[in-house]
Amino acid sequence: MPDDLSWILNHLGEKRDADNNAVIPPIHQSAMFCFETVAEMRRQLGDELANPFYTRGNNPTVEVLRRKLAALEGAEDALVFSSGSGAIAAAVVDTVSQGDEVVCVAGAYGWTAKLLSKLLPRLGVAHRFVQGGQVADFAAAIGPHTRMIILESPSSLLFELQDVAGIALLARERGITTLCDNSYATPLIQRPIEMGVDLVAHSGTKYLNGHSDVVAGVLCGSAERIRSVFRGPFMTLGACISPHDAWLMIRGLRTLPIRLERTRASTRVILDFLGAHPAVAKLHAPPKPMCNGLFSMELKSDDIADIELFCDSLERFLMTCSWGGHESLVFPMCALSESENYVPGRDRPMGLIRVSIGLEEPDVLVADLEQALRKLV
Ligand SMILES: *Cc1c(COP(=O)(O)O)cnc(C)c1O
Repeated sequence: MPDDLSWILNHLGEKRDADNNAVIPPIHQSAMFCFETVAEMRRQLGDELANPFYTRGNNPTVEVLRRKLAALEGAEDALVFSSGSGAIAAAVVDTVSQGDEVVCVAGAYGWTAKLLSKLLPRLGVAHRFVQGGQVADFAAAIGPHTRMIILESPSSLLFELQDVAGIALLARERGITTLCDNSYATPLIQRPIEMGVDLVAHSGTKYLNGHSDVVAGVLCGSAERIRSVFRGPFMTLGACISPHDAWLMIRGLRTLPIRLERTRASTRVILDFLGAHPAVAKLHAPPKPMCNGLFSMELKSDDIADIELFCDSLERFLMTCSWGGHESLVFPMCALSESENYVPGRDRPMGLIRVSIGLEEPDVLVADLEQALRKLV
């Protein structure tokens, strides 16, 4: 059964016999790889995506990670980038040309939205954000110049879902490339390629690595699409991952299933507690089968002073951005009000507090939330 989950995580892509039978793949911390003969060099340079020559393109440690990520997503191939934003930008730049339009779900990750609204207009590429997640919402938004549709289901602040399979089918009929940001669900919960999506992107920084010590991005797709991205933006923009970070990510990936299992179980306990608490007005989370450890909450009081009191009182939750690591976090949106990246009106509701549940004992987290909420009533 060579493609079951534990085979992928423990064995796939690892060449132990070529590495002194090391159980753990070595970090190939080398910028380039040399050849014995001109003929061999010529042969390998014929396919730089498959052969390590220069680490911006391919590296044996990164290659192990690529094989595992492609198999997890059910894709023919994968590329690993130095960030999730780098992966998404490379996919978009490879797909569109001057005069094209990108249709993107409203509420997509902030820097995805900014790529479309700030950078692409300078290259003559238009965009449109779509409210709603139904096929009809997207059918109404696409036009003759639509070249690409970007989905993020669930989204990572309000956890809105889109009809991924339906929209992918619509796009395929019109010759439009689809990309789905699958950072939230991970391939353990949703495999967009099996739903007809062309390209799957990840912030590897979140659940895939899961230890808050690497910033990385992933792009999965058909061999043909991945080769096109590789020859184009991947090699020219050069947002490759370092061998050391790839090695850390291989290590993080080994425990993805048990990390998510623990996180999902804890999150159910915490959502039940918060849902019943008189100081909590509203919870935003995906439906249970898709719910991992990231959700948002709104307090009954929308007074910023109360949000600050609650967040400042937490002792076990760290206050910062990002999510998907072993440690629990809160991110109050009201902290963004003076950020240079904050766009009033377009941006998120100020009363929202985003919570990422880590691997701590759930009753420790509940007790911490309890004592912080008690200050409000
Ligand atoms: C963090 C994030 C990204 C960007 O990933 P980086 O690794 O931070 O560049 C993209 N999409 C989603 C949903 C994210 O949460």
